[in-house]
Amino acid sequence: MSFLFEDFKGWKEYCDQHNKSLHQSVIDYEVEQKEISEALIWQGLENAYRVMKEAVQTGLTEDMKSKSGMIDNGAKKVFNHKQTVLSKEFQVLISRALAAKEVNSCMGRVVAAPTAGASGILPGVLVTLQEIQGLSDRQIMEGLLVGAGVALILEKRASIAGAVGGCQAETGSAAAMGAGAIVYCLGGNTNQVFNAVAITIQCMLGLVCDPVAGLVEVPCVVRNASAAAIANSSAQIALADVSAVIPVDECVEAMGEVGQSMETRYKETAMGGLAATTTGQAISKKVLIQDIEMLPDEE
Ligand code: SF4
Repeated sequence: MSFLFEDFKGWKEYCDQHNKSLHQSVIDYEVEQKEISEALIWQGLENAYRVMKEAVQTGLTEDMKSKSGMIDNGAKKVFNHKQTVLSKEFQVLISRALAAKEVNSCMGRVVAAPTAGASGILPGVLVTLQEIQGLSDRQIMEGLLVGAGVALILEKRASIAGAVGGCQAETGSAAAMGAGAIVYCLGGNTNQVFNAVAITIQCMLGLVCDPVAGLVEVPCVVRNASAAAIANSSAQIALADVSAVIPVDECVEAMGEVGQSMETRYKETAMGGLAATTTGQAISKKVLIQDIEMLPDEE
């Protein structure tokens, strides 16, 4: 059954032929791969979604200052700011994505979905979707399963790691998972779900991985917020049946090709992009000195 997540075309064909929903096909796959019961899969999903909700809550209520000082309670500032740009819901979405990712940057507990660097996107998207649309936990978990199916294909055909494919592979993959999950949770059909994934990949394509001082803080935290916004815009577009034009499997192929051709300095090495700026370099030096000062004295 592992052929199921080779590509999106095959996934759709399998579901059509076996009269399975997208989320049920992922359950079947997980049961087969992990050799555990369906009940245990749902239990794992419940745990994962609980940790996501807790991360959002923690990031919005507890002190979130990272050791480097680069992250300093940004989520709470956004959440409490009086001025809204679009709507209260948009403000809350952004602050939740920031919040969960700040928890990761401050060494708290998150769900790596698909990676720790992108751990704010699904919590921000799904908790906000559930609240606005009045969805049950079960519906959200079905969306999470669809997101997992999306990630399996991206991992196979491109990458979900910044060190391999740049930030497009990390925050881009999480945004694609989120967009697919939103459309699925809102009753979209398979074409619309996959179209949302394709549109998201198109929006995130080419994003480099350039963490300042090699810490997953800047620009990672703000990219979680922008990726959450893109997941929502892509879902909105896909639900209206606006075509991505380039089929989803070809978008994934493009993502893999762009990732492969990206220079090493844009793959989590902290040697290019924002990490290589004057300020980025100065922060890097400061962090290094802090680390040396914290080393235990040798006798
Ligand atoms: S910049 Fe790199 S480390 Fe930061 S979120 Fe993106 S892929 Fe991860």
